[in-house]
Parts: sequence; structure tokens; C-alpha cells
Amino acid sequence: MFLVLCSEIFFVMVSYFINKTIDTPINNWAIKFLVESSGYKAVKSNTITDQVKLYYGNDLVEINTLSNSIILQQKKTSSSAIFSFNEKSKLEELSFDIIEATILLLTDKIHCNLNKEHYDKHNRLKGSCSYQFKNGSIQKPIVNYYVLLIKNSIKEKFLLTPIPFYPKDYTCVVVLSHDVDEPDRYAILKRQKEKTKHLNFENKLYYAWIFLRKYIRKIIFGGHKSYWNFEKILALESKYGFSSSFFFSAKSRFEKGSNFKLDNSYDIDHQEFQKLFSSLNAKGFEIGLHSSYNANTTISFFEDEKNRLEKIAKRQIIGNRHHFWNLGKNEDQTLLAHHKSGFKYDSSIAFNDCPGFRRSTALPFYPYNSENNITLSTLQIPNFLMDTNLVNDEDEEEIVQKAIVFINELTKAQGVASINWHVRMAYPTDKKLSLYARVYMKIIEHLSNTKNVWVTSFENYYQWQKEREDLINAQ
Ligand SMILES: [Zn+2]
Repeated sequence: MFLVLCSEIFFVMVSYFINKTIDTPINNWAIKFLVESSGYKAVKSNTITDQVKLYYGNDLVEINTLSNSIILQQKKTSSSAIFSFNEKSKLEELSFDIIEATILLLTDKIHCNLNKEHYDKHNRLKGSCSYQFKNGSIQKPIVNYYVLLIKNSIKEKFLLTPIPFYPKDYTCVVVLSHDVDEPDRYAILKRQKEKTKHLNFENKLYYAWIFLRKYIRKIIFGGHKSYWNFEKILALESKYGFSSSFFFSAKSRFEKGSNFKLDNSYDIDHQEFQKLFSSLNAKGFEIGLHSSYNANTTISFFEDEKNRLEKIAKRQIIGNRHHFWNLGKNEDQTLLAHHKSGFKYDSSIAFNDCPGFRRSTALPFYPYNSENNITLSTLQIPNFLMDTNLVNDEDEEEIVQKAIVFINELTKAQGVASINWHVRMAYPTDKKLSLYARVYMKIIEHLSNTKNVWVTSFENYYQWQKEREDLINAQ
């Protein structure tokens, strides 16, 4: 699709050497991330030769041997120092260790000393408790600037042209995504009695209460189709030449193993979804999995949900996003489960209560699993903006301007990140939710007027990312 790049010639091999005392798998992972995100191939050298372009360590004898290498010094790195970085910082003048900083941010080790009250009941770090917020950097993906620094240093010193971040003339990517939580406003009324048999007494009571509430609302407000905005969203986004990803629940609240109070009510087996899936497939929009609230607790849940969605949607499911962003208490374990379940990408790392870059990156990465010392194969693509964490009591125009501030930061950092707008909130069919929809429409209109921003689905972006990796690895 993007292979037009092959007509150009790239020499992108970057040989690096790590001092033996700090030659750990995680340090290698961080160097590879920085170099390969830059668009070069990172090749480890076990000896110091003239070919070594990047050196990590403090050994003066080794450093003196290397007259023409970029030296990355190992330094004591405090959490606040890494945020002192600004766009004009020079690699050799950094007051912190860029490798250590990359590890602290991308693995989220930076928050390892926080405790329970810094997280909400769905295991999400509260924005105001994050180091990003405390250091005034929640809207700045500083890992992108580390990558840009490495990229430009290699380019200037060795006159090597890297594989570009993005195809064509794009300098930034905004992925449009829609979690599908309540496509059918009255789905709960469609349930059959036998499907509630296994519920405990408390959940049976809860079911009776929400059933009654929905029943009365249906009589008073109607609006059977007021959350079913798929066709309208498709038409709206297609008008600008955009595409997007829809994340569907494949396990309803009525299934065994679900969280009855928090999971969704709809069943993708209903005929209306089958028609919808055909339409999304035909029009080039992506279908991904919105994994259930408890999916992080059992690997087979991921596999069962993915298989079911694949069967009904009649397509391969490559991506996932957790309902409630609920990665569980042990996020590393959940990221490992994505890898074991064969997801190509996941996009569940985000702040829930405010816009921003949860791990300070607006570039995708393959997470590191410290327990097994492996790099995971599921690409993690950040989300930086969501309907409910952007829209508040402010005036509509102020809300839109706030979104534009974040989009400008993403553009400046040459990043890629997604926006998540729930289906019921992305088109002004329902009166109560119409503010969210109007804001969304203005955001995508703004994007259509912003030069060099590629607005697309995860699937399309992922395809490019793989082609880029192949180009880098072909060297
Ligand atoms: Zn959800």
C-alpha cells in the first residue's frame, strides 16, 4: 500500500555498544525503541569498532577509543529531571539518562511508588496523581522528543537518512476510534429470562431495577435508535476521506464470567449487528474488540471474545481496547495476555479523567515484560483524548479549543495517538448527548483543515507501521 518509499534508497543501520556492566535486556530494549522509532535499524555490536555509532556507558577508556560516536551517558535519573526536558535540549547536555528516562516512562516504573489511593476503582491512575501532571507535562509526549533528539543526532553526525515516521507527506497521525458501549439504548429489555438464571441475588435485584428504569424511559423518551449512530458516523467521517475503528463487546453482561454491573448489555449475535458488520467491512472501517471488564483476569476470556467477534464479524480481529480502560491491577500481566492472545495492537493506555499522554509517548511501542525479560509482540498505541474527559461545563467553543491545544502538541511532537468517541456521543441524534457530538464534529472538521495530519483507523496505521518496520529490518 505504501511501498512507494522503496524507490528511495535508505542506509539506516546504526551499530550500538553497551558497556558490559549495564548490558541488560531492558537497556537493549530501550535503545532499540529509540533508534528504531527514529527510523534506523539498531544493530548491537559486542566489540568496540569504528563502526559503533552509539555508545551507552561511562567507561572513559571505551569512550576515548570511540572518536566518532554518539555517547549516551548513564546517569542517576530522578523522576522530576526527565520532565525538565524541552525541545531545544541537546543530547550531550541532558541532565538525565535518556535510556533510563525512556524505561521509567514507557514501562510506567515512574509510578511504582504510588499506592491505592492514587488509582480509581477501575485501576486507572488519576490524572492529578501522575508525574506528568505534577510536572506540567500531561499534554507533552516527551518520549517523542527523546526519539527526535536521537534521530536528528544520528542524521547530522553520520548523514544517514532515516525511514520517515509516516507515509506520503504526513507528519502526524490521529487515529479515530469509537468504543461501542450502548449502541442499542434499550438492549437490556430484549433479554430473555433464562439468561439471568445464573445471576446471584444481588445482581437479580440490580437487573430488575435497571430493567424497570429503562422500561419507563422507553415509554417516556422513546428514541429507540438514538444511540445507533453508525451510518451517520460513517457518512460524516467518509465525507472528509477519514476512516475509523469501532471496538465491540463480544461478551455481554449476561454471560458467565462477566461483570454484570459494568459490562454492556447488547449481544452481537443479533441480526442488526451482522448487517452492520457487513457494512463496516465493505466501507473499509475497522472492527476491533472492546474486551470485557474482567478480560484482564483470564487469558481465555480474550481468546473467546476475539474468536466470537471474528466469527460473527467475518473478519480478522487485530486490535483490542479494554472496556473502562481496565487493564487490571497488574498491567504488565495484562499486556502479556494481549501478546499471548495474538493481538497485533492494543490501545488501552490512557488517562480516563483528563486528556493527555499517559506514558508520555505519542509513538507506538512494543511493551517490555520484566518478569520474562521479553519484548511483547502487541503494539501499544496511545490514546490522548476522549469525549467524557474533554467535555465539561465549559462553553462549547472553549472545549473545542482545549482539544485543539492537545492536537497541536501531538502535531508538534510528530506523534501518533487516538481519539476515543463513543458511538452514542459521536452524532447529535440524542438531545442530551448532543454537546459531545457537536464537539466531535468540530474536532474532525478542524483535523480536515490541518495540513499533513493523517486521520485514519488503527488498522490502516498499523499496516503502515509494519511496512516501516519491514523496510528498517530489510537493511
Ligand atoms: Zn466501554
